[in-house]
Amino acid sequence: MFQNSPPTRFGTVYRDDLARPETVAVYLNANLVDIETNANASLVKRLRIACLAGPQFWAEAPVFVLAAGGIENARLLLNADKVERAGLGNGNDLVGRFFMDHPNIAKTANIVFSARYPNFAFYDYHRVRGIKIYGFLTLTAETLRREGLPNFYLGLDKGQLADESASVASLRSIYKSLRGGHWPDHLGFHLRRVVGDLDGLATTLYERALHREPPLFSTFYSCECPPDPASRVSLVAERDALGLRRAQLDWRLPGDFAATMQRAHRLIGEELGRLGLGRLRINTAETTQDPMSAIENGHHHMGTTRMHRDPKQGVVDADCRVHGKANLFIAGSSVFPTYSHDDPTMTIVALALRLADHLKARPS
Ligand SMILES: Cc1cc2nc3c(=O)[nH]c(=O)nc-3n(C[C@H](O)[C@H](O)[C@H](O)COP(=O)(O)OP(=O)(O)OC[C@H]3O[C@@H](n4cnc5c(N)ncnc54)[C@H](O)[C@@H]3O)c2cc1C
Repeated sequence: MFQNSPPTRFGTVYRDDLARPETVAVYLNANLVDIETNANASLVKRLRIACLAGPQFWAEAPVFVLAAGGIENARLLLNADKVERAGLGNGNDLVGRFFMDHPNIAKTANIVFSARYPNFAFYDYHRVRGIKIYGFLTLTAETLRREGLPNFYLGLDKGQLADESASVASLRSIYKSLRGGHWPDHLGFHLRRVVGDLDGLATTLYERALHREPPLFSTFYSCECPPDPASRVSLVAERDALGLRRAQLDWRLPGDFAATMQRAHRLIGEELGRLGLGRLRINTAETTQDPMSAIENGHHHMGTTRMHRDPKQGVVDADCRVHGKANLFIAGSSVFPTYSHDDPTMTIVALALRLADHLKARPS
C-alpha cells in the first residue's frame, strides 16, 4: 500500500531550527559551481559558490557533502574537471552511469472484481485515521524469482476504463495533477487532445451523467529497472547561466520490459480468476504495442554515483564517501546501486541520517 503525506514546506516547518546559528548557516540562492581540490585530487579544499545576480564566494570546510539531487550530483562532479579531466571521482568512468528511474504506465489493463470480493475499495484512495492511503497488487517474492520478473506494482484507478478515449484520459490527467497541486507534465499535449475531441468528450460525459460508472478499475504499472551502464547522465557543450555544462539524459529500459510487464499482468489475472475474485483484461491496443510511447518517469533519479566497495564498480564507498577523496561525501538516491519499485525518499533520509552519524563519529 501507499501512504500519502501532505507536502512539507521546508522553510515554514524548519525555519526556527535553521535560524539557530550554532546549528547551521543557511545561504539561499547560492549555487555550487566548482569543487576545488588539492594537486592530486585526494582532498577537497573549497567550493566556489555563485549567485545568479552576480556575487560569488568560496566556502571552506573540513568535510563536504554533495546533496544536489540524482542528476545534479553527477553533473557537478563531471563539471569539476580541473584536476581530474574526466570529472571529479570519475577515474573509472562511472559518474553519471547506471541512471535508474521508475517507469510508470497508466491504463495497462482493466480489472472487474466479482461481487464475491468485498474489499476492492481498499485499492482506491481512502482515509485511515485521517491519512490518505491506497492499496496495490503485486506478486510474492518467490513468484517474482521463479518467473524472473522485476519488483513491480499494479495500482488501480476506480471506475476508469483502460480503453476510454484519449481526450477523457487527458482531462483526467489534468484533473489529477491539479488536484495534486501541480501542473501536469505535457500540459499542451493534453489540452490539444481535449480540444481535438470535444464531440467524444461530450458523449462520454453525457453517458456518465446518465449511467453509473461500472465497478471496474484500470491498472497502472510501475517496476524496478536493473542498473545499466549505458543508461546515463552526461554533459553537453551548452552551458547554463552560471557557466556549467548542462546535463543530457539517456534513460534506457531493459530490453524485456514489455514482455515482463505483460507476464506480470497475466499472472495476476490468472490468480484473480483462479480464486474467483475478478477478471483482468490486458489493454494490448493502447499500451503494450509500444510501451515507450505511454511511459512517464517516476521523478526518482537514482544510481548516478552508485555505492560499491570496489572503486572500479562504484563511485562512493559504504560510508557514502567518494572513492579516493578523503573528505567528499554524497547524500541522495544517486548512491543507490539498485532499487526496488518503491519510492526512494525514505531510504534517502535513512542514508542521510546514517551519513550524519558517521560524520559526527569522525575525528575532527
Ligand atoms: C513531482 C514529484 C513527485 C514525487 N513524489 C515522490 C513520492 O511520492 N515519494 C517519494 O519517495 N519521492 C517522490 N519524489 C522524489 C523525491 O522528491 C526525491 O527522491 C527527493 O526529493 C530527493 O531528495 P534529495 O535531497 O536527494 O534531492 P532534492 O530534493 O532534489 O534536493 C536537492 C537540492 O539541491 C539543490 N541544488 C541543486 N543543484 C545545486 C547547486 N549547484 N548548488 C546549490 N544547490 C543545488 C536543489 O535546488 C534542491 O533544493 C517526487 C518527485 C517529484 C518531482
